[in-house]
This record gives sequence, C-alpha cells and structure tokens, in this order.
Amino acid sequence: MRTHKHFIHGQYQGGDHTFEIDNPATGERIGLAARGTKLEIDQAVDVARETFLKTAWADMDGRLRGELLRRVARVIRSHSEEIAALEVADAGKTIGDARVEIEIAAQTWDYYADLTQSAVGTVNAVPSPDQFDYTIRQPMGVIGIIIPWNFPFVLTALKLAPALAAGNTAVLKPAEETPVTASFLGQLLNEAGIPPGVVNIVLGTGLEAGAALAANEGVDKLIFTGSTEIGSLVMQAAAKNVTDVTLELGGKSANIICADADREQAVMSAAFGCLLHSGQCCCAGTRLLIDGKIYDSFMDQLRERFERVRVGDPTDPKSHLGPIINDKQLQQIQRYVDIGQREGATLVTGGGRPAGAALEKGFFFQPTLLGDARNEMRIAREEIFGPVLTCISFEDFDQAIAMANDSSYGLAAGVCTRDLVKAHYAAKRLQAGTVWINTFNGLALNSPFLGWKRSGIGVERGVEGLHDHMHLKHVRFDLSRKPLPVFGD
Ligand code: ADP
Repeated sequence: MRTHKHFIHGQYQGGDHTFEIDNPATGERIGLAARGTKLEIDQAVDVARETFLKTAWADMDGRLRGELLRRVARVIRSHSEEIAALEVADAGKTIGDARVEIEIAAQTWDYYADLTQSAVGTVNAVPSPDQFDYTIRQPMGVIGIIIPWNFPFVLTALKLAPALAAGNTAVLKPAEETPVTASFLGQLLNEAGIPPGVVNIVLGTGLEAGAALAANEGVDKLIFTGSTEIGSLVMQAAAKNVTDVTLELGGKSANIICADADREQAVMSAAFGCLLHSGQCCCAGTRLLIDGKIYDSFMDQLRERFERVRVGDPTDPKSHLGPIINDKQLQQIQRYVDIGQREGATLVTGGGRPAGAALEKGFFFQPTLLGDARNEMRIAREEIFGPVLTCISFEDFDQAIAMANDSSYGLAAGVCTRDLVKAHYAAKRLQAGTVWINTFNGLALNSPFLGWKRSGIGVERGVEGLHDHMHLKHVRFDLSRKPLPVFGD
C-alpha cells in the first residue's frame, strides 16, 4: 500500500509513523500518510526560513518568479487526469468537479504569475519639498498554511500561489482526511523547477502537526481555512507570538428569494448554492429565506429539483454529488436533520442515506430540504456542512435582510430578484464578504474573498490577496542635507 510522504527541502521523507486514508465513496483503504509531529513541522519551518533568508528566492526578479509559477500551472495541466483521479478517491469529489477544480488550481498559479510585479507602493505627499516619502511592499518570510478537506488541491493553489508570488516561502499542512494531492504537489513543484525549500509540505493531524505549525515562532504569517472553532484556536496560538493571521472560517449564508425573482434562476441559485460538493462548502447558501407569497409553490419546485439530483459513484460522470467526507461528518448531518425536526421544521425531502446496494459502503447523504423553519432554530444558526437546506418564510424584504444578518457568520449572502433597486439595496445592507445577486457560489480569482464577523479575518484572492502576504514599509527620505531642526543651532 502506498505511503504518501512529507515534502521538505525538495525531497520526500517520513513514513515510519503513519495514518490511514480511506475512500469516502467505498470505505476502502487507499493508502497511508506520514504522520508529522512538531519535529517535522520545526524542520520544515527551519528549512523555509533558511531558504527565505539565505537564497535568492525573496529577491528574485518578479518576471523570473512569474515564469516559475507559470510552469507550475503547465505541469498541473500536464498531470490533470492523474491529480483528478487522486482527488476523486481521496476527497470523494465527483470526477466532473475534480476536473474543474484542477483547472482552477492551474489558473490560480497562472493568475499569481501575472501579479509577481504588481506589489505597488505609493509616493506620499509631505509638507516640505525637502522630504520624500514613500511606501513599498515586501515579502513577509515564512507563511504557515493550514487547509481543510473540502477543496484540497484547489486550496493548495489559492494559498501557495499568492504566498510565492509575493516572494515568501511556505510550510503547508493539509487536512488529515485529504493529504494525497498535497503530497503529490511536491513532485509537481520539483518538475516545475521551484527551488527546494520554497514550499515544504508536512502531513499529519490537526492536533499534532497543525497545532505545532500554528505555535511555531519561525512563522511570519498564518493562513488558515477551516471551522470557526479551530480558527479561533489557531488565532490564540498565533497571539502568543504576535503572528499575523488570515482566517477563512465557517458560514451560514442566507439566500433571499423575492416573489418577483425569475423562478428558474432562483431555483437553481437555491439548489446549486446549497448542494455544491454536497454542501461541504464554507460559503454554501444553507439558509433559504422565501417570500411567504410564493413559499408553497417555490418549495414544490425546489423539492422537485432536489429529487432530480443524482447522488452516486463519484467516478461516474453522470453523478452530480459524491459522498460526504467521512462517517463522523455523515453522523453530524443526520443529527442536525433530527434536531431540525424536533425543533419543529418539516422534512420536505431527503433526510437520510440514499437507497441502493452500490452506495451502502460509502458515506452518501440525500439532498435534504427542511421547511417551515425559523431563524432561531439550530439548523438556521449552526453550520451543518452537508446537503441540507433550511427554508424559512418571510413577510417583507427588510425583515428578510434583518434575518439574513441575524447570524454570527458573515461569509456570503444572496438575493434573487428582478428589481435592480432592491438588489442594490440588499447588496449594501447584507453583512457578508460576498453578495450574490440571482446566482450563488460564483468566485473569480481577481475578486476578493473574505469573511465578516465570525467568518474570517483578512482577504484572499485578487491583488488584495497578494498584498495580504506582504509587509507594508514606510520610507522617509530627507533631501535637505540639513540636520534635523530640533537639534540645530
Ligand atoms: P473542518 O471543519 O473543515 O474539518 P477543521 O477546522 O476541523 O475543519 O480543520 C481544518 C484544518 O485545521 C485541518 O488541516 C486540521 O488538521 C487543522 N486543525 C485541526 N485542529 C487544529 C489545531 N488545534 N491547531 C491547528 N490546526 C488544526
């Protein structure tokens, strides 16, 4: 059985201590992964530090660094089918989603390749003509990156590409559920010619490797994506060293369906918004707020749409949704569906595992609608992280916006309406990092992604994402050739 290893200073290592990796669609063991501890994390951070301080990487001409990043994109594309197969078996991605995500990963490396020369500063107005004042942006040093299991390969790109474009080095800790493509990335980086030590990858659990990375004093910035609970722990560890953090955390995003919305578009926005990757998506639209005037007919159409979604073997291109990542997560989803019904919500469709012998061994869950819900219920306040949509009726638009904002999270929100004034009004008032109008889950590399409230800190993607990996420096220049007047004669 194959053992997936750490990648430190351009070489694979480890494997004496391992953990098991299972395919969530079949329950079969697909390999072992090296189980890193503080020892390997400290080694990887030391290598990343040395590489940052003592090699030409940080000061490399932006054009050359851009060319290296572009090569990573090319190498990813040349191995795309292999990476997709690994991602399907490891993360339970449908083959269709895996192919799209690997292409997005390649595009991310390309996008940041183009930005290697975009870290501009400013020249600042000062009162005296004898003074010159400006800002520059410089790499920070070692970026520690901790990612979850829901979008494993695409997240490696979204975190590493801007970190490297800015001239940093990095230590990456993938989720213990999905270490395979992160480990494989080492080989791809070597093939692309990324110098050894620039990217170091340590596999392992959150408690052992993750916590060690968050606490390491040699890390200059921590980038974390995952649950709000663990994000808070990472921030606490970072606080001890006063390390900068960017956190992309949980969400309970509301999608408001107005009576005047284009019906087909709104149904798709609600269904795709919630069900992408079986709802295992931090920005998923998992609270549906529906105008009471159309509630019944909209729910009928949505139920019909949910029931047409094909859950099945993720290697089959006809499957829309694959499995849930593991049994623990599956149980959590089931628990919330039960809690919802006990709180008074109505199970409209789904609610359990799909029938069929072929799906018995995997962790599959039916697309599920819980109707007649209220915003106070736990199913409307807590992140379920599964294909479960909580549906709530509203009476007027301001009440819907207030309900959407009545959440500890603020990652995303949506509105479906044909009324432009209403759409802009809502876009301004919704407390979320992203607002989707008549759509959901659409992201672009050059648009920022960020969470408000307990959904995060810092900005990813776009030029803001590049700057988030850089120190800002202020330089004041005295051109007068005179001593400072305070000590002058
Ligand atoms: P999810 O809810 O998506 O499983 P988690 O927040 O549990 O996300 O985990 C996201 C990442 O954080 C994973 O790589 C995991 O190993 C890591 N992690 C878990 N616990 C800790 C911790 N105490 N310190 C640092 N990282 C952790």
